[in-house]
Amino acid sequence: MRVTEVRVWPVQGRHWPRFPMLFVEVYTDAGIVGLGESLCYQATGVLASIEQAGEYLVGKDPFRIELHWETLYRSGLHPAALSGIETALWDIVGQAAGQPIYNLLGGQCRADIPVYVDGFFRGARYVEEEYAAMACAAVAQGFRALKMDVDEPIPAARRFNRALAPADLRQMAQMVAAVREAVGADIDLAVDCHGAFDVAASLRLGAALAPYELLWIEDPVPSGNVRALAKVTEGTTTPICTGELLNTRYEFRELFERQAADIIMPDLARTGGIMEMKKIAAAADTYYIPVAPHNMVGPVATLASAHLCACIPNNLVLEYQLGDVPWVDDLLTVPLAVHDGAVQLTAAPGLGAALNHQVAERYRAA
Ligand SMILES: [Mg+2]
Repeated sequence: MRVTEVRVWPVQGRHWPRFPMLFVEVYTDAGIVGLGESLCYQATGVLASIEQAGEYLVGKDPFRIELHWETLYRSGLHPAALSGIETALWDIVGQAAGQPIYNLLGGQCRADIPVYVDGFFRGARYVEEEYAAMACAAVAQGFRALKMDVDEPIPAARRFNRALAPADLRQMAQMVAAVREAVGADIDLAVDCHGAFDVAASLRLGAALAPYELLWIEDPVPSGNVRALAKVTEGTTTPICTGELLNTRYEFRELFERQAADIIMPDLARTGGIMEMKKIAAAADTYYIPVAPHNMVGPVATLASAHLCACIPNNLVLEYQLGDVPWVDDLLTVPLAVHDGAVQLTAAPGLGAALNHQVAERYRAA
C-alpha cells in the first residue's frame, strides 16, 4: 500500500476566528483514507507543515509509522502537524487490519473512557449561583467530573503580574466553594490557572483551595521552569497537573525526572500523535503519574484520544467540551457516543469514523 495524497481541512469551530479545527486525511492506493487532527492554536504554519509532510509521504508505505515520525520530527516538522498525520496513519493501519486502533496498541484496559467536562460554565456570569447552577446541569447530564477556570475572570490589569491579590484569591475560593457545595463531594472538580501565577501565589492558592478536595490544580505557574513547578507541587496537597503545551516525550522528560507534577495532560493533537501519547504515558507510569489528556479542539482528536485512553493502564480522565458549536458531532460519519460521563468506543476498524466532507465543506475556514 502506498500514500497517494494528503489533504488538510481547516474548519470553523468554537475557537474560530482565532484558529480553526484542522483535520488531516491521508489517501492510499488501496482506497483506504486515514483521518487525523492537528491542534494549531494561532499557528497557521501548522497547515503549511502538513502540506510539506504530504510531499514527503506521497509514495511511502503508510505502515512504517515509526520511520515516518522520526524522519519528519528530525526534519523539524511542527509536532502538531505530525500529530494529525500520525493519527491518520494509525487509522489506515487499523482499517487495513480490520481492528480498532486500541487493539493495535495493547488492547483495552477499559471499555468506557471517563471524561471531565470543560466549559460547563459557558454562558454563565462569573457569580456563584450561576456557576453552581451550570455545574449541577452538567452533573444532571451524567457527567461525574468538571473543570473550571479561576484565572480568566481576574481583571486584566491585575492578571499580568503573576501575583494574586487577596480579594481575587478570596473570590476564587468562594467560586470553587459554591460549585463544590452544589455538586457534592462525589463529583470530581478541577481548576485551571493557565500559568497565571508565580510560585508564592500558587502556594497561597493551593492552601486556599485545599478544603475543596480538588481533582487537580492545572498550570499554576507558566510552562517553562520545571523546578518552579516542582516547588508548587511539593508545597500543595492538591495534585498539580500540567503538560498541555509540551511537545513529544522529550519535553516531558525533565518533568518526570524531577517529579514536578502529580498528573500530566499531553494533547494528542499537538504532542506528536497517538503512539507518542502512548510513549509519554508509559514514561509517566514509571513515576506512577496518571494521564488526563488535554482535548480542546475537534471530535477527531476526542475520538483518537479515547482510543489512547482505552489502552493505557495509567489513564485518569479525558477532557470533553460542553458548549461547543451545535454541528460539531455532524463532522464525523459516526458521531461520538458519550453517555453517563464516558466515551463509548465501538469495535469498528481504525478510528471508527470518517470525516463528513459535506459538513467540513459547509463550515470550511477561509
Ligand atoms: Mg489548561
